Amino acid sequence: MRLAYAPCGIFERNYMMKMNFYNSMSRSKEAFKPLKDNHVRMYTCGPTVYNFAHIGNFRAYTFEDILRRVIKFNGYGITQVMNLTDVDDKTIRGALEQGVPLKHFTAPFIASFFDDLRILNIEPAEVYPAATDHIPEMIALIQKLFDKNLAYKSDDGSVYFSVAKLPSYGKLANLDRTKLRAGSRVSHDEYEKESYGDFALWKGWDANDGDVAWDAPWGKGRPGWHLECSAMAMKYLGASFDLHTGGIDNLFPHHENEIAQSEGATGEPYVQLWMHCAHLRVNGEKMSKSLGNFFTLRDLTDKGWSGREIRYVLINGHYRQPLNFTFDALDAARVSLARVDECIDALSAMAAPGEQALPEWAQRAQLAFSAAVNDDLNLPEAFAALFNLVREANSALSASALAPAAASAVLELLASFDTVLGVIHFGRKSQCAEIPAEIQSLVDARATARTEKNWAESDRIRDLLAAQGWSIRDSKDGQRLKKL
Ligand code: AMP
Ligand code: ZN
Repeated sequence: MRLAYAPCGIFERNYMMKMNFYNSMSRSKEAFKPLKDNHVRMYTCGPTVYNFAHIGNFRAYTFEDILRRVIKFNGYGITQVMNLTDVDDKTIRGALEQGVPLKHFTAPFIASFFDDLRILNIEPAEVYPAATDHIPEMIALIQKLFDKNLAYKSDDGSVYFSVAKLPSYGKLANLDRTKLRAGSRVSHDEYEKESYGDFALWKGWDANDGDVAWDAPWGKGRPGWHLECSAMAMKYLGASFDLHTGGIDNLFPHHENEIAQSEGATGEPYVQLWMHCAHLRVNGEKMSKSLGNFFTLRDLTDKGWSGREIRYVLINGHYRQPLNFTFDALDAARVSLARVDECIDALSAMAAPGEQALPEWAQRAQLAFSAAVNDDLNLPEAFAALFNLVREANSALSASALAPAAASAVLELLASFDTVLGVIHFGRKSQCAEIPAEIQSLVDARATARTEKNWAESDRIRDLLAAQGWSIRDSKDGQRLKKL
């Protein structure tokens, strides 16, 4: 009897292999190991929930998902924190425009963000702290900065960080400190390197904030965006933790300012290794809400693209290289994934349990895959290992040179690759139960045509099925139907 394939995880061993990641601080690849107990603590800057996230944002979140999965692939534990920025200039403006309370305004964007994560098969983080639930921690952090003489109150009721008083300020973004103009201040959350100066920790209330305000010892107002992340990261991960990530636009001023606030307050190194992904672009420009050149996930799923096809496009490039978004890339993803699906189907059809070592070509793919993902998440190389494996498996299958137990071992290896990639579909045979009745009757009619050697009718029905989004393949075991 042939068994339906179900991955049982024999390759999910504790490799504890050597991982090298590019550190944006040292601007070089470094060997990475968690600071404590083989358990990685990672902070990933999350969405500002004033709109639906676009797929550029999801490039950052899929990069972080791959990072998380690679860490687990190597046998380490992980605590990942991803914040929800639910109070800042943009969320307040949106709530005022709609005339609703801030929480009402942000709630649907938070819900849709979590839906999108599921569609893209992004593993959930352990903690999703919302900024508005952590105001006391933020006030306490500002208090510490006052105590250390790094914070001061300005005339407008805001509180600023004094960058001149922290000699290490600028180390992440490599700022030219000689360009600092004494006393210059920036009240916006985002600004260029050239105009850096003292930045806002707390924004004193004004009429533009409507009823969004909290009381603090230095006056009514709200936290600055940079401060939110410092306070929440240290609450959940401690004063010093392993990894901090985001899109490259987060590097300055957001992450530079986080370092200043956290190290200024604790005197300890904030983060061991910083990682940033390059942007998703459209026609050479950053995909962004302000440029209006963006697609949300819904825009693409409404056009018929699946979550895994979109995920494939987002992860199939080196995270430090800009990635140009095109519909051709989605087409190519569909074709590539269909190749993997067909190989999985063919392997599953003959796989049977048993003791069998991996064929030599599969062992090579296994080594190549691990080496690639551990070399600063080199996914182009990892996909090359996957497709080499698929090619070799297909040749072994067509030469009838694969024992059932070896087919099973190759499937297990593919399943272990997919713990990182998250794009392979296993066990699709069980989905046959969902074949609509009209499709099934076409398949039956085609089977009858074939037994009657009516090839013209068989081809006609195959085209009819294709027009309805189903492909059919003939094998010695009969017809094999697949949803396209
Ligand atoms: P935001 O909601 O604007 O704070 O952005 C959330 C995350 O998405 C941050 O890590 C940004 O750096 C990242 N991000 C925004 N636009 C892009 C893009 N076009 N490509 C890659 N990452 C992006
Ligand atoms: Zn952040």
